[in-house]
Amino acid sequence: MPEKGQKSSKSMLLKDKVALVTGASRGIGEAIARKFAQSGATVIFTYHSSVERAEQLVIELQGYGATVRAVQSDAASFTAAEALMNDIIKEFGRIDVIVNNAGITKDNLLLRMNEAQWDAVQDTNLKSVFNVTKHGLRPMLKQRSGSIINITSIVGITGNAGQANYAASKAGVIGFTQSVAQEVGSRNIRCNAVAPGFIATEMTEALTDEVREAYFKNIPMNRFGRPEEVADVCLFLASDMSSYISGQTITVSGAM
Ligand code: NAP
Repeated sequence: MPEKGQKSSKSMLLKDKVALVTGASRGIGEAIARKFAQSGATVIFTYHSSVERAEQLVIELQGYGATVRAVQSDAASFTAAEALMNDIIKEFGRIDVIVNNAGITKDNLLLRMNEAQWDAVQDTNLKSVFNVTKHGLRPMLKQRSGSIINITSIVGITGNAGQANYAASKAGVIGFTQSVAQEVGSRNIRCNAVAPGFIATEMTEALTDEVREAYFKNIPMNRFGRPEEVADVCLFLASDMSSYISGQTITVSGAM
């Protein structure tokens, strides 16, 4: 990690790019925002309720020399996403990278799952991706460039008992990603998904020891992933190093 006030000694892969990361007050989103700031991007990130942590992150990222904005904005709200994107374009004039990362779990066996648990997960994990992408697309079409990265999950590919709502939302993200890639590929806009396996964050800390053990047995690399390992893939997809990659889902799961 570079010293405060210094940018990464690695090449500035995102120099001059304006990037939005949703849900970056902690976990994977935080690691992505940090990686982007260290790589020369202007970073706008959102959060839902963690005001203090967002403020701390702004100070840290500014230490890398990045221009940073933190916005309390509910990704599940269509109108909030519209206002967010309007503000970004007003202030920075462009949007080069969107990472749709905000997500929640409300686990329960289907027999016990109620409507509110289903709806909250669809709204935060899937509708949010529609909301933010929809409003970011117009400026990207004007620019004739852009990279959209949607954080899905290995569970969206395999399914998982007790997570029908979450798996459905994440599978939806993959279908959305492939469709958008096909719609806007001719305008030089790329859209990819990243599917983490088991990454050590507050989301996975909430699982019972029993569930964590069961996951662990299925990971050939014999360890949980780190948020930075997901952020590295996002950096690649955000940068011009992946200029001919679109419509893909890249798993980051230790071969799970
Ligand atoms: P996390 O530690 O629980 O962090 C979630 C982040 O999303 C927080 O910054 C939270 O903000 C924000 N958020 C939640 N609801 C939001 C909303 N309505 N609007 C805006 N922001 C909202 O989760 P994580 O483990 O880093 O997961 C990040 C993403 O990776 C999620 O999409 C998740 O499904 C996916 N994923 C995670 C794993 C894993 O093993 N951890 C595996 C596969 C996929 P506040 O702090 O303000 O609440």
